[in-house]
Amino acid sequence: MRPIPTQRTPERHRGAEPISVNRPELVTDPAAWQVRCRTDRAAGARVVLVPTMGFLHDGHLSLLREARRLAGTSGVALASIFVNPTQFGPTEDLSRYPRDLEGDLAKCAAAGIDRVLAPADPAQVFAAGHETWVGVERVSQGLCGGSRPGHFRGVATVVAKLFNLTVPHVALFGEKDFQQLAVIRAMVRDLSFGIEIVGMPTVREPDGLALSSRNAYLSPEDRQRARSLSRALFEARDAALAGERDAERLRGRARDLLATAGVRVDYLEIVHPETLAPVARAEPRSVMLVAAFVGTTRLIDNVRFP
Ligand code: AMP
Repeated sequence: MRPIPTQRTPERHRGAEPISVNRPELVTDPAAWQVRCRTDRAAGARVVLVPTMGFLHDGHLSLLREARRLAGTSGVALASIFVNPTQFGPTEDLSRYPRDLEGDLAKCAAAGIDRVLAPADPAQVFAAGHETWVGVERVSQGLCGGSRPGHFRGVATVVAKLFNLTVPHVALFGEKDFQQLAVIRAMVRDLSFGIEIVGMPTVREPDGLALSSRNAYLSPEDRQRARSLSRALFEARDAALAGERDAERLRGRARDLLATAGVRVDYLEIVHPETLAPVARAEPRSVMLVAAFVGTTRLIDNVRFP
């Protein structure tokens, strides 16, 4: 590992030096994140945060590059890398979730990120005796909230904590995790965080598969099967464009396509884009969301209707 600079100021990006060659500063102590970010903010820097669980791919990179752009040359673009144990259920993949801090630092450098916040130990974020939780009630229900009890409580709590530790002006999240984005927006609104939340479009493989760190689990056969998720969603979108707006019929077609591909559906719903309540008709901006097991790997995806 190359030596990591211990100090970095927003001014580092001023001048002719290409941003992409800079290695970001790695800060492993969450208490130090708060001091540093508050200092940046007090100095007038625009602070922009991308929370991630690491093992970064091109989907994350689009958020990181946009964070750099939004921070501008005098702002501070931050990425947090933390595999949050509180959002995993007892039988889920916490211990085998893929990790590659060294590779992630190189990708953050290429995206122009100034500082990577990665706790050395999860207990530095959730200490023994942690007993405060953030529950976003309505939009956490159903969909992934139904299949993964406690998941969004863990997500909302860690994001609230990250917001307090990094005091960002702006935070970016992917539309790939559509329900998560709705949960964060509701939390920020209801608890008056005063942070601008930016939703970013889903980045896909050339064959349509949404990029995900969990794609690394797929065998070559399952990788082929995984194409059926985006195919089913795009087929539904095309059918709606051709005039089929009945949600039940659109869901039926998508279910058939997924069953034929040998994929086990966890849920497949068409919902209102803000309330996430099921709708009878796929109106413009309605969203079709799918979660399905491809082999043992659970993948999610979604598409908006035109
Ligand atoms: P994760 O590391 O899975 O927690 O993801 C960190 C952020 O990246 C979240 O806001 C995700 O929604 C976003 N993200 C993950 N995959 C994609 C993708 N394929 N396209 C765009 N954003 C993504």
